Amino acid sequence: MNNIKLWEPNTTPFIIAGPCSAESREQLNSCASDLKKTGKIDAFRAGIWKPRTRPGQYEGTGTKGLEWLVEIKNRYSLPVITEVATAKHVEKVLKAGIDMIWIGARTTGNPFSIHEIAEALTGVDIPVLIKNPSNPDLELWIGAIERFERAGIKRIAAIHRGFYPFEPTLYRNIPKWEIPIELKTRMPELKIICDPSHIAGNSALIYDIAQYAFDIMMNGLMIEVHPNPQNAKTDAIQQITPTDFVSIIDRLKIRTQSEYLNIDKLERMRLQVDSIDQQLIELLKKRLDISKKMGEYKKQQNLAPFQIKRWRNIIESRMLYAENLGIDPDFMMQILQLIHKESIATQNKIMNSENSINN
Ligand code: PEP
Ligand code: MN
Repeated sequence: MNNIKLWEPNTTPFIIAGPCSAESREQLNSCASDLKKTGKIDAFRAGIWKPRTRPGQYEGTGTKGLEWLVEIKNRYSLPVITEVATAKHVEKVLKAGIDMIWIGARTTGNPFSIHEIAEALTGVDIPVLIKNPSNPDLELWIGAIERFERAGIKRIAAIHRGFYPFEPTLYRNIPKWEIPIELKTRMPELKIICDPSHIAGNSALIYDIAQYAFDIMMNGLMIEVHPNPQNAKTDAIQQITPTDFVSIIDRLKIRTQSEYLNIDKLERMRLQVDSIDQQLIELLKKRLDISKKMGEYKKQQNLAPFQIKRWRNIIESRMLYAENLGIDPDFMMQILQLIHKESIATQNKIMNSENSINN
């Protein structure tokens, strides 16, 4: 299965779908059979080795899952793709006859791992899709792409899966669209696929993210689809059923050349400002949540909400920090006063209420 249409000229968006993890032969078959029937997918995905934050969580089915994937490839004539994170994985994937591989976000962030995987792929003609690193570092993403180019890989694409948020946000991973857009500007020939499932972290946001990806001329999507998302062993909240997948794909508008959003230099800067404002708002919410907890505590301990020593300390330390960054002191003072005023008001509200949680 060598002709993957992603690299053909004037092609339609490349759609990859399938479960986050290969859990069983039956689960993979049920998912692939339903997806094949839709006629709307170009490749079937499933993770075999899962990178987990803590040990003891489901770490994937391991090597036997490769056999199941190859059965899917043969039964449904679908190219299959899985994640590799080590040279050993590469060896096993190549031996099994998997068609394409992707590099996970955590691996892209580690040049040693990328070097090792690229070396194991030297002289092999297999498509490699490289997810962005978890942190918003474009150079690291480009560095990984270059390492595969140097190993002689011809069919390389990037996958935009969003960036780890500083604090929990509306998204599981903040899209920071300006970064894949900048990548496209720096590497115009590179195909970029959007992974709305890992950006969203929940099924409700997938459609909007996918449409925006099409609006800015991305070359395809990778969407997590599971026959029974509630029972999925990984990423249950963001996976969708094959039925929901079809309904999303059918509603998406593929834009023509003249309909693409014009992302010029000014628009790219506006996108940066958009994601910063979003994070500012989320941080303010987080700060006010802590004020509420402080209100509870101060009520319990019979302390006053406003303490002059603490306020002076806040002003001095923040003003110095801002001054070192070249921020106008008047502007900074106004912001600090506003934030502090709201924090005290929040605490007062809690302390004056009859039924706080601690009562
Ligand atoms: C995945 O695609 O299931 C996955 C683990 O992705 P990421 O590396 O983007 O977290
Ligand atoms: Mn996943």
